[in-house]
Amino acid sequence: MKKITPITRPILFQAACCFVLAFWTSCQNGYEPKDMAADFILYNGSFATMDSAYTDVEALAVRDGRIWKLGKREEAQAWADDSTRWWDIQGAFVMPGFVEGHAHFESLGKSLMNLNFLHARSWNEIVQQVAQAVEKAPPGRWIQGRGWHQEKWDTPPKETVGDYPLHHGLSAVSPNNPVILFHASGHALFANEAAMRVAGISAETPDPPGGVILRDAAGQAIGVFEENAMSLITSAWEDYLDQLPDTEREAQWRKALDLAQNECFKHGITTFIDAGCSPEEALRYRHLAKAGDLQIRLYTMLYGDPTALELALQKEDLPVRLSANENFSCRAIKAYFDGALGSHGAWLLEPYSDLPESTGQNTTPIDSLKRFAKMALENEMQLCVHAIGDRANREVLNLFEQFLPEKPSPLRWRVEHAQHIHPDDIPRFAELGVIPAMQSIHCTSDAPFVIERLGEERARTGAYAWRSLLDHGARIANGTDAPVEEIDPIPNFYAAVTRKPVGQAGAFFPEQRMSREEALRSYTIDAAYAAFFDHITGSLSPGKWADIVVLSQNLLTCLEEEILQTKVLYTFVRGERVQ
Ligand SMILES: [Zn+2]
Repeated sequence: MKKITPITRPILFQAACCFVLAFWTSCQNGYEPKDMAADFILYNGSFATMDSAYTDVEALAVRDGRIWKLGKREEAQAWADDSTRWWDIQGAFVMPGFVEGHAHFESLGKSLMNLNFLHARSWNEIVQQVAQAVEKAPPGRWIQGRGWHQEKWDTPPKETVGDYPLHHGLSAVSPNNPVILFHASGHALFANEAAMRVAGISAETPDPPGGVILRDAAGQAIGVFEENAMSLITSAWEDYLDQLPDTEREAQWRKALDLAQNECFKHGITTFIDAGCSPEEALRYRHLAKAGDLQIRLYTMLYGDPTALELALQKEDLPVRLSANENFSCRAIKAYFDGALGSHGAWLLEPYSDLPESTGQNTTPIDSLKRFAKMALENEMQLCVHAIGDRANREVLNLFEQFLPEKPSPLRWRVEHAQHIHPDDIPRFAELGVIPAMQSIHCTSDAPFVIERLGEERARTGAYAWRSLLDHGARIANGTDAPVEEIDPIPNFYAAVTRKPVGQAGAFFPEQRMSREEALRSYTIDAAYAAFFDHITGSLSPGKWADIVVLSQNLLTCLEEEILQTKVLYTFVRGERVQ
C-alpha cells in the first residue's frame, strides 16, 4: 500500500471534499448515477404542474412513489431503462391530485351508507325514501339520512311552518323507528315523532341557547331543530349508537372510511382535509395510518368542547404533526362561530333582509373561542373557525389579530367558509396571513336565496368574494364541504370559474369569478398549504409524492360549456394507481 506523504494528504482530502460537493450539487441539479431509472413515465399529454419552475412539461417520471423528473419528451429517454413503463396518456391532462380543502371524511362515507336527499325534489319524495328504509329495518333501529333542503323542492309541502314541513307524514311511515334527517347545510335536522319521544321533547322543552325548536301555532315541535337545538336529538341518537356492540360500531366506521376513500379516488382527490373529528377518532386514524391502512393523505381538525380538547392534548399522542409515512396529520382545532345562511343562522352585522328581527346566531361564546385560540398557540396548532356571516367573520378576524403574534402570520389560521365578508374586512385576510377556506359550489347552490337573505348590495360586495380576496393577496383553499355538497371537484371547479349554477345561463355576480389557473391553485397547492402539506404534495414538483390525477381534457383550456364533461381517467397516490 502506498504511503501517503504529508504533502499529498491535504490534496486528497481536498479532492474528496470536491467530489462530495460536486455529487451534492449535481443531485440538486437532477443528476444521479446512471443505474437509476423511472418506474413509469407519463407522456403525450398536457401538464399543469402548479409549480412555476416547471411550465413547459411534456413528460413526467415517477420513481419510488415520488415525482422524479419533469421535462421535454426527448429528455425522457435518459430517465428510462428496460424496466420503465412508458405510459402514453393520449392527449389527456395531467395535474396534481385534487386537495379537498374542507369536507367531512367519515360523514361522506356514512352519506354513502345512509339515505341521501341531495337530489330530492319534494318532501314527499323524502318521506317515500324513509318508508322504504323502514320496511327493511327492525323496530327501534334509527333511520339516518341527510341532504334535504327545502329551498330546492319543486313542490312545497302542503302544511308548513316557515318553509319547513311538519313531521306527521314522516311519523306515519315510521311509527316505531326513530328518524334523524340532517339538513344539507348540516345546521338543522328533521326528527320524526319516535325520535322526539326517545329524546323526551315536549311542548315545554325550551330552546337551548344558540338553537331553535321550530313549533306550530299550538307550541308543538314540528320536527325541525336548528343549530344548537340539534343536540337534543343527536344526543339521543348517540346514546343509541353507544349501546351497539363495539365490533359493530368499528365495522361501520371502517366501512364508511373505505367508501369515502374510494369515492375520493374515483374523483381524483388524493388529499383530504377533514373539518372536524373527535380526539378518539383522530387516534383511530393515527393508528390506521401507522398500520399502512390509510391510502389517502388525510389532515384532520380536532373538534370538541374546550375542556375535552384540553384533556386530549395533555396526552402525548396528539397533535400528530405529520405521521412517519407522511399521509396523516392532526394538528388543527376546529370551532364553530355561527350557523348557515340558508337557515338564517349566519351571524350578520345588520339584520337579514328577509327576517328584519334577526341578525342570526353566534353559536360559540367568544370566551370559548379565546380558549381554543390559546390552546392552539400553546400546542403549536392551527385554528380553523367556521364563520359565515359578516359579523362572525369580523369577530374572528379581530380575535385572530389579537392572538397571532406576527402579521402576516406563518401559523396559517383559517376561516372556514368565509362566505359573507364586509368589504372593509376583505384585505385583512392577506394582512393577517389568514386562509379563507371557501367552497365554490356553495356560491352557486346558495345563489337562489342569497339576495333574499342579504339584499342586492351586501350580496354584490361581500358574498363569496373570491376575486376581491385574491386581488388582496389571500390564498384560498377550495373544497366542497361534502357531504353537504357532492365531493366531485369538477362541478366545484366549474362553479369557481363561472359562478353559474349547473344548467343555468345566469351567473351570480360574475365579476367575482376565479381564473382557471387560480381555481386550480385553490384546489391543489393552496389547499395543500392550508394543511401544511405543500412541501410534500399539491404540485408536480421533483421530490414531492406522486399524487397525480389524469383527466380527459385540459381544465385550463377546454370550452367553458365542456368543463362539466371532464372525466377522471387515472388517480395516483404515491405513484400507485388507485383509480
Ligand atoms: Zn363543514
